[in-house]
Amino acid sequence: MVEDEPSSDGIFDLLQETDRKRRKSQRAELLETMKVKEFFDEGEIAINARTCQGLECELCIKVCPTNALYWHDGKVGIIHNLCVYCGACVVACIVDDCIEVKRVRKDGRVERFSKPVEVVKLFCTINSEQRRKRLESIFPSSETYLTRFPFQEKKTERKSEE
Ligand code: SF4
Ligand code: SF4
Repeated sequence: MVEDEPSSDGIFDLLQETDRKRRKSQRAELLETMKVKEFFDEGEIAINARTCQGLECELCIKVCPTNALYWHDGKVGIIHNLCVYCGACVVACIVDDCIEVKRVRKDGRVERFSKPVEVVKLFCTINSEQRRKRLESIFPSSETYLTRFPFQEKKTERKSEE
């Protein structure tokens, strides 16, 4: 029996996947040397050269924690392998929608932002989520909460007696 040969589409997908894995591990190695342990694996960053204030500003270059941005040939250049999609450059940028960042969280959720206010809102949401998860891990139910912090009826009674 002759086995089916893989289609050219299949081979192309396989090559793309191998290339993606190779780039991912190169990027992880590069960031490891910079002691960056936590980062978004997947994402994109783009800078609009038409709205960028360039030389008069350079704030994004100054705040980038991994030196992924640099000044070159009259515009801001990006070393994509060094970008961890943290959003610091978007917060610092003096022009709305000049830097656009898209990143994929571990659970597959996609986040996009291009204005400081969007990054701040995102951080607030992430912080609230983390607080909720922490609280749920300590008190999985209202009963566990009440066991630890029982309702202090006596104190309340005494106050009303006064
Ligand atoms: S998103 Fe973060 S790591 Fe990427 S260029 Fe902006 S400041 Fe640098
Ligand atoms: S912070 Fe914004 S305006 Fe300033 S150089 Fe960077 S991209 Fe351009």
